[in-house]
Amino acid sequence: MFDYLIVGAGFAGSVLAERLASQLGKKILIIDTRSHIGGNAYDCYNEAGILIHRYGPHIFHTNSREVFEYLSQFTQWRSYEHRVLASVDGQLVPIPINLDTINRLYGLSLTSFQLEEFFASVAEPKERISTSEDVVVNKVGRELYEKFFRNYTRKQWDIDPSELDRSVTARVPTRTNRDNRYFTDTYQAMPLHGYTRMFENMLSHPNIKIMLQTDYRDIVGTIPYREMIYTGPIDLFFDYRYGKLPYRSLEFQHETVNTPVHQPVAVVNYPNEHLYTRVTEFKYLTGQEHPKTSIVYEYPRADGDPYYPVPRPENTALYKKYQALADATSGVHFVGRLATYKYYNMDQVVAQALTIYKKLKGTGNRQSPELSATGYASRRL
Ligand SMILES: Cc1cc2nc3c(=O)[nH]c(=O)nc-3n(C[C@H](O)[C@H](O)[C@H](O)COP(=O)(O)OP(=O)(O)OC[C@H]3O[C@@H](n4cnc5c(N)ncnc54)[C@H](O)[C@@H]3O)c2cc1C
Repeated sequence: MFDYLIVGAGFAGSVLAERLASQLGKKILIIDTRSHIGGNAYDCYNEAGILIHRYGPHIFHTNSREVFEYLSQFTQWRSYEHRVLASVDGQLVPIPINLDTINRLYGLSLTSFQLEEFFASVAEPKERISTSEDVVVNKVGRELYEKFFRNYTRKQWDIDPSELDRSVTARVPTRTNRDNRYFTDTYQAMPLHGYTRMFENMLSHPNIKIMLQTDYRDIVGTIPYREMIYTGPIDLFFDYRYGKLPYRSLEFQHETVNTPVHQPVAVVNYPNEHLYTRVTEFKYLTGQEHPKTSIVYEYPRADGDPYYPVPRPENTALYKKYQALADATSGVHFVGRLATYKYYNMDQVVAQALTIYKKLKGTGNRQSPELSATGYASRRL
């Protein structure tokens, strides 16, 4: 008899498996439909021997010391600060938009102070900021919105930013200095030997059994367990009773190029030309030295693996109906990006899983302010 059947071996499932096995001595069966552990953060060496991220670039960054220290038990790190360029008007310029972006784009030599005035002169102040378009136009005006955001967002989501929740573009700041880092979190690093090695270390406890290439629905009636931790799509769990929750997907086109360097930074965004949204060169992320290099093109798709919950009010309303079902389902804990239909980064999912663990352990009333990822649905905690 297993104490827990954990569905999904991504961050949510693996953190809980590790904590429950190593700290409480629980017996765990963790299963995944895929042929590997790690969920979307899975990485592997390709045919050329280059470490790649199969499901697109995963850059680790967090402000939570607790999350960083927790993961540090299972990996060493290599320092990495992420930088992104956008291909706009025939140039590669920094994104998030900063002083260099504007000076290069318009052939100017503004100071930070002058850039503030420039933004103020082009911004279209909005009384109420509710959409992704409002967020950007309110800060940097319509022209920069069109150059950097409108088409990128339309490609990515197949929805005009004017119809998309503000949260999507609010994630990208605008700067008046020359800081060209994509993230400003306290901890920015990549697992030294990759994510998969880190997951292997997390799941190596003798109380944890791993079953891959298995849909939980095929075994749920045959394997005895006390409680379930479910990290798959919440609508699938309830047989799409109220209809499908909308997701955006991606098609990844991986390529190995016969040159040591392909582009000047890890990620180049293509807001306007091409059907793909961005190109990633993995060696920047991993620090690997190799005479060849591997890149991936991302093509947004309507169908395929569920990657991005689409943040629109009607989808949130539909999710709430599933959440009510989840709340009424005893013995099942819904955790992670798919089970809570939230656009969480890796660190937020780790934080969420650690919070659930504390509650399962029975000491969960004092939640660290750092671990503020919320929205999990969990029963009988
Ligand atoms: C393209 C892309 C880029 C990203 N980049 C970043 C980044 O740079 N930084 C960052 O912090 N975050 C990034 N993220 C987010 C990150 O991937 C997630 O936060 C994290 O992987 C979520 O972990 P999870 O365990 O909730 O879900 P997942 O990793 O999706 O794991 C869920 C697992 O459940 C399994 N499963 C589903 N249904 C079943 C079933 N019926 N039976 C058995 N198993 C099932 C799935 O196969 C999957 O492996 C990115 C996401 C995407 C899609």
